[in-house]
Amino acid sequence: MAEQSRQNKQTIKAVLAHASTQIGRFEAFILLAQVLGKPKEFLITHDDDVLEPGAITRFDILVEMRRTGTPIPYITGRQEFFGRYFLVDPSVLIPRPDTEVLIEQAQLVAPLSPKVLDLGTGSGCIAITLALEIKEARVTATDISEDAIAIAKENAVTLGATLNFKQGSWWDPVQEETFDLIVSNPPYIHKNDPHLAALSSEPISALTDGADGLTCITEITACAKNYLNPNGWLLIEHGYDQGEIVRELFREGGLVAVRTVKDYGGNDRITMGRRAN
Ligand code: GLN
Repeated sequence: MAEQSRQNKQTIKAVLAHASTQIGRFEAFILLAQVLGKPKEFLITHDDDVLEPGAITRFDILVEMRRTGTPIPYITGRQEFFGRYFLVDPSVLIPRPDTEVLIEQAQLVAPLSPKVLDLGTGSGCIAITLALEIKEARVTATDISEDAIAIAKENAVTLGATLNFKQGSWWDPVQEETFDLIVSNPPYIHKNDPHLAALSSEPISALTDGADGLTCITEITACAKNYLNPNGWLLIEHGYDQGEIVRELFREGGLVAVRTVKDYGGNDRITMGRRAN
């Protein structure tokens, strides 16, 4: 009888088995660990524990969010980037591993105690990482979205980085300023790109310019020289098929030593160029 009532109860094992049929075992583990505030290992070592009804209700809600397409980071509220966790919500893009290549390249070309600018900072993942990884970097981060700036500020405080935040579109908030390093991961997806459908939970304005994907990149490259110190570098993330055209835009903007670096998947992803003098 005792065994019977136990089987009817919702053990961790039983709840996970059911959710795994809906969203997959890996994600079911992440979401139940989130609900219980425990590490994933706990779910294995305590798989016979019976869950409180409240925990099951909360878990069911998260499973349903995931099943209907909400990305895991918007459910757990965080995403790892370059070894640190960043707070995210649907007002900012979810940081991507490919963007870590931009960090690595920026580290390679940064001079000592550089003045750095991140255009369109979103969660702040690039700006904050550079502030923490590059010695004595003085970093300014901009975004047109007030909500994004709020998230980025919170991430800076949580991660112990000091940055200068400015709200506005591309160059508007940094008139009269110059930098040693300017970086950006602008919206670069073509408005008709079929990949956009799979990204519908993320802010559309962070993903596409609503045109051919080159509007924001062009706005940045056309004026970058005015905002770069001599020998300063511009680094921009872009689409896998935009390398050639973006290199051309860099050269038209008067930059030299222009090259494209591939991401971990072997696709063109970051183009960089230098102001000669
Ligand atoms: N800079 C942020 C990132 O790389 C946001 C980029 C964006 O919203 N396009 O994740």
